[in-house]
Amino acid sequence: MEWPNGARCAVALTFDVDAESAFVFQNPRKASCRLADVEERRFGVRTGLPRILRLLDRFRLPASFYVPGYTIVHHTAAIRAIRDAGHEMGAHGNVHETLDIFASEGEEERVLRDQLEIWRAYLDLRPSGYRSPSWELNVWTPALLTKYGFAYDSSLMGDDIPYTIDTPSGPLVEVPVQWLLDDAPLYRHVRGSSNGIADPDRVLRMWAQEFDGIHREGRCFVLTMHPWITGRAGRILALEQLLRHIRNHPGVWFATVGDIAAWASSSLPRRPGSGDAGQHSR
Ligand code: ZN
Repeated sequence: MEWPNGARCAVALTFDVDAESAFVFQNPRKASCRLADVEERRFGVRTGLPRILRLLDRFRLPASFYVPGYTIVHHTAAIRAIRDAGHEMGAHGNVHETLDIFASEGEEERVLRDQLEIWRAYLDLRPSGYRSPSWELNVWTPALLTKYGFAYDSSLMGDDIPYTIDTPSGPLVEVPVQWLLDDAPLYRHVRGSSNGIADPDRVLRMWAQEFDGIHREGRCFVLTMHPWITGRAGRILALEQLLRHIRNHPGVWFATVGDIAAWASSSLPRRPGSGDAGQHSR
């Protein structure tokens, strides 16, 4: 993979600003009466997000933020601060619905249309990037996204460089993600489970090692974080250490996912066997 200006690899910092939307989707009854779970997640928009924006500003780095419609409606000022800081913003469901609940393309399309209406009404924006809630995707989703003018999706794990998914309404660029580079499985406390809470030094080592490999291989490092998880004070310190580690390497292109997708769509040869959307079923 060749990167702009002879860069050796690409790095995208991404944040899924779920706030309490996923909890509302999964447990609507509990969400209406249990303050503790909801407040744990609101920490993200209240405290974590401003902390992240300050860190990015201090390092003068771009980032991509994926925001559910619910978060836009209920935490509008926090989300407008992302827009006003000039970062990329992309769609991330309406109430963080995992796409596997939709029995048909029509149902999924209605939710997508509702999202775009919220984006227009509250932010005056039309997102060109999409990240599906919980990284679930249906076989018809890529075609739906291209039909509604999205330039890329960033929810699949089929490679560690961007690739294209052919759809009847044109190719969709995929900028892939990985569980390894997601803060949730590492840091998140799940009551009753034995996964514990990962030591930030361990997370930093894992992510730095993956970055070193990506840098050596000339690939694309897409880190996915959540303000309610990574926004904790000590984890922000770990993220800062990671950014310093990455900046010590030559030829790193820090970019938004949108920039990476645009570069990919102008430079990627269509790979034989890259397949159509049907080959990317779950
Ligand atoms: Zn999410």
